Amino acid sequence: MAFEGLTTRLQNVFGKLRGKGKISEDDVNDAMREVRLALLEADVNFKVVKDFIGKVKEKALGKEVTESFTPGMVIIDIVNKELTELMGGTQSKLNKNNRPPTVIMMAGLQGAGKTTTTGKLAKMLQKQGNRPLLIAGDIYRPAAIKQLQVLGEQLNVPVFSLGDQVSPVEIARQGLQEAKDKGHDYVIIDTAGRLHIDEQLMEELKQIHTETKPDEVLLVVDAMTGQDAVNVAASFNEQLSLTGVVLTKLDGDTRGGAALSVKAVTGCPIKFISLGEKLDALEPFHPERMASRILGMGDMLSLIEKAQSGIDEKKAKEMERKMRNAEFTFDDFLEQMEQVKQLGPLDQIMDMIPGMNKMKQKSDLKVDDKQVGRIEAIVHSMTSAEKQSPDIINYSRRKRIATGSGTSLAEVNRLIKQFDEMKKMMKQLSGMMDPKGGKNKAM
Ligand code: GDP
Repeated sequence: MAFEGLTTRLQNVFGKLRGKGKISEDDVNDAMREVRLALLEADVNFKVVKDFIGKVKEKALGKEVTESFTPGMVIIDIVNKELTELMGGTQSKLNKNNRPPTVIMMAGLQGAGKTTTTGKLAKMLQKQGNRPLLIAGDIYRPAAIKQLQVLGEQLNVPVFSLGDQVSPVEIARQGLQEAKDKGHDYVIIDTAGRLHIDEQLMEELKQIHTETKPDEVLLVVDAMTGQDAVNVAASFNEQLSLTGVVLTKLDGDTRGGAALSVKAVTGCPIKFISLGEKLDALEPFHPERMASRILGMGDMLSLIEKAQSGIDEKKAKEMERKMRNAEFTFDDFLEQMEQVKQLGPLDQIMDMIPGMNKMKQKSDLKVDDKQVGRIEAIVHSMTSAEKQSPDIINYSRRKRIATGSGTSLAEVNRLIKQFDEMKKMMKQLSGMMDPKGGKNKAM
């Protein structure tokens, strides 16, 4: 998952500051040196890092910090806000034409994930009650049209194609007409990619642009290519005036440099991120939530949204309340695991839970899906009273639970310890999860 290294390093830096009652200029300088290194290691653009550190330092040396009783936390707050700002401040939503259809043009190099993203976007729009039409404009890559048609069939979304012998501009023109005739409210044009940016490609994209006057020009870039992705975005933007970037393969990008640099380098906001090959692995990009994830503070809002889209809304809200108040029991834990399993790969979900990243560092918490079965077996072997009040689980009960679940005493001990830590951590962090952006109370 993205930002793993960065989150760990930032948490170490802030860990040192947190305990201090007073912070000197030297402390700030030391911390900023480490933050700078952490960002460079995460492959964030050099200039972006320099500007970022400059801004944070200026604020961190200001009165607000030196006069605070908890200067470490004020600095974390400053970094949080600046990270959010760096990634665009607030969410950039998809443009919408008041006179449908809204035309979305997809662009990107080959292999970036353009065709897959076209399908994912169609699914997202369809889920919101829209009727998208896909236009197969990539006539050069051998299987691209077929790939889009297969996606269309899977989603039950129509795909407009004229084969690979008609020019993409003509395909786009006729496709758009078809959308108007048949009353589609969104059109997504899949265009051809190349291995590298070349003039012919740009010329063709510009012609499609002129012909269809898109409301949205989304560039799909592969996050795993780091700064190359940022450079590609900058080049495309010069020629095509992009309206947004879709960052794909964030699930495989452990560093995260592209996500942090794209907006600052190109001026173009990231609108979506993609975290997997499945069709529902596309998420709207929220700078403030991503900053929160990077700082290891979790992303409860995205988690709740995911839960709401796939799961009983009432239950998800209740769970969130319990988490905030650190009220949940092993029964809730079990139910939560059941629900979480439906949401996607566990390591991605875990990163959205506040404090979880830290727990992963502190304890050797395994988050692979196989481990879930063992954890569930342990909880199932507890009595109702034990699940409701874990405090009563003494040594002999632990031994019984281990035998009953076919696990070991050590595993039972570890789970109970982790459960306790999770509760504590959530209580501490609950103040920070105020969706209205209230001041951080604790970290
Ligand atoms: P295109 O040439 O840009 O149209 O690329 P495709 O849409 O064909 O995608 C190239 C490959 O990347 C395919 O194998 C996709 O399944 C994969 N892919 C796309 N998006 C993601 C993502 O977010 N995560 C992962 N892991 N794979 C992805």
